[in-house]
Amino acid sequence: KEPVCECNSCYGGPDCSEFTTDCAANADSGNPYFLEPFWMQHAAKSAILVAGWHRMGYTYPDNSFISTQLEASIHKLHAVVGNAVTEGKYFVFGAGSTQLLNAAVYALAPENSSSPASVVASIPYYKLYETQTELFRSLDYRFEGDVSSLKNISDADHVIEFVTSPNNPDGKLNKAVLHGPNFSAIYDRVYYWPHFTAIPTSADYDIMIFTLSKLTGHAGSRFGWAVIKNESVYQRMAEYMSTSSMGVSRDAQLRALKLIDVVLETGGREIFEFGSNTMKDRWEKLTNTLSVSNRFSLQKIAPQYCTYFQKIRGPSPAYAWVKCEREEDEDCYKVLEEAKVKGRSGSDFAAETRYVRLSLIRSQDDFDVLIQRLSELVLY
Ligand code: PMP
Repeated sequence: KEPVCECNSCYGGPDCSEFTTDCAANADSGNPYFLEPFWMQHAAKSAILVAGWHRMGYTYPDNSFISTQLEASIHKLHAVVGNAVTEGKYFVFGAGSTQLLNAAVYALAPENSSSPASVVASIPYYKLYETQTELFRSLDYRFEGDVSSLKNISDADHVIEFVTSPNNPDGKLNKAVLHGPNFSAIYDRVYYWPHFTAIPTSADYDIMIFTLSKLTGHAGSRFGWAVIKNESVYQRMAEYMSTSSMGVSRDAQLRALKLIDVVLETGGREIFEFGSNTMKDRWEKLTNTLSVSNRFSLQKIAPQYCTYFQKIRGPSPAYAWVKCEREEDEDCYKVLEEAKVKGRSGSDFAAETRYVRLSLIRSQDDFDVLIQRLSELVLY
């Protein structure tokens, strides 16, 4: 029988109740368990039951890979939250946003061009853009690293820029750096929800990518969506989806529909209040813990007006981007690891090793152990 819950690294035993005193705090991956208590409170109404003979075919009755009901719910969700303009735009669904990121690169790269499109991002960036682009080794596009690596670029060159906003790892609301006739941007907006940031405006870019993983926390369902303005880009992304996996699991779409409809019941109020309060509280605890010493510093995020909550909001980022300030602490990951804190090194974001990302979206137990280990560390 598959266990329903997963123990964090400090707890073991059959029901995760045995505490190991000298365990390391896990602040590495972005598993979004911070939303688990919300779904526990709504266990019955968020549940789905699928009979064995249901949804067996590849496609929906209209012959598409996309549930029109789910598409309508996602439109409604963006309208209610005010984080993205979706009217008149096209949708493509993917196995998480991960699959859509490459689908977008494929769609934007020119076919049979004499030179491949350059794919870039701004350091610090989410490493998957690089690993995935390199994995496919396409003749049509090539990963070139930081935007600044593009020297002597002309208007004739094709450039695809990943813009992550809020950024993973530092939570900044980034904007495209490059502009030109053959330059396009893929806006990765997976953290653009009231849990993690103020929503200053409704984003209206050509390609925007979202995911259930960071909205409801259901990363394991592997469901993401792209909102696309241009019809031919949409056609190419849809072609990518049908050729690479014949669309997205209908079971995942059913689950996404159920979860998003629960979110919509209160116009998102309940989940976003829960999510943003949890993240704000965690950020404040972390800031207070580290403030007793000047050995570590955190990214600065200015308070901003949020159109969703209709008030000015302080920071509530998904990750802490920690800098080791002491000259000798060049390898910040190691400094933290020795203090039993497992983060993710700056080098995994193409940044200096003086930085480490700490995930704040994991379970409350993981976060509590993190604060405990950091409080011990800053006392030295
Ligand atoms: N983009 C960013 C910036 C992310 O941080 C992540 C997950 N950590 C993803 C995309 C991929 O998420 P998923 O495939 O679960 O949608």
